Amino acid sequence: MTDPITIAIDGPAGSGKSSVSKEAARRLRYGYLDTGAAYRALAWHVLQHGADTSDAAAVVDAAGDFDYAISLDPDEYWVRVGETFVTDAIREPHVSSAVSGVARVPVIREQVNVLFRRLVAESGRPGVIVEGRDITTVVAPDALVRILLTAAPEVRAARRSAELTSQDAAAVAAALHKRDASDSQVVDFLTAAPGVTVVDSTDLDFAQTVDTVMDVVRSGTEGSR
Ligand code: C5P
Repeated sequence: MTDPITIAIDGPAGSGKSSVSKEAARRLRYGYLDTGAAYRALAWHVLQHGADTSDAAAVVDAAGDFDYAISLDPDEYWVRVGETFVTDAIREPHVSSAVSGVARVPVIREQVNVLFRRLVAESGRPGVIVEGRDITTVVAPDALVRILLTAAPEVRAARRSAELTSQDAAAVAAALHKRDASDSQVVDFLTAAPGVTVVDSTDLDFAQTVDTVMDVVRSGTEGSR
């Protein structure tokens, strides 16, 4: 069996990356791989151990018994650690604010990257949309289509606070900018690498963003299977 087509989509939090990638995967009948979920689930697991994610040794230690599974079905998304479904738990603010510590550990990045490539290869789908921060550059630099989905910081903060309605908008914006600052020390997800197409969603609504991404995918995959 030939390897699935890989569509790589990177971008910061609030760019619309996850919802847009999911919808594009549905339309293409591709799998959808959320790579941030692995970092979030490991952060959740480290916290379950009563450890601190700023302690790299504790993170590596917790990774030793990290039994992780994720669905690549855009219509049936779930994330599991051991026997526990953590799909919602990994979105909680205390996990979001702990996740950058996990993402900063090089050996962890290497391990999850191997896992991501395996999940794509074994997906059983004609293609997979893989979204994250370093997919276009590190995880799948040879992907047939590579997109950087961006949006102005204030628009990203507004979108995130609209999702997290129970929380104060200013606090949501502050947490997002803090996470961006930590994450950008590890991966440059705001600059497009050579050959990566930028889609700026600042002035686009959800449907327009999906259409723009689908156009880029179509022109990139024309002539392939
Ligand atoms: O995309 P999401 O916001 O769920 O990602 C959670 C965290 O995982 C990011 O803040 C970042 O620290 C990390 N991450 C990463 N590389 C990726 C995907 C996510 O470092 N490819």
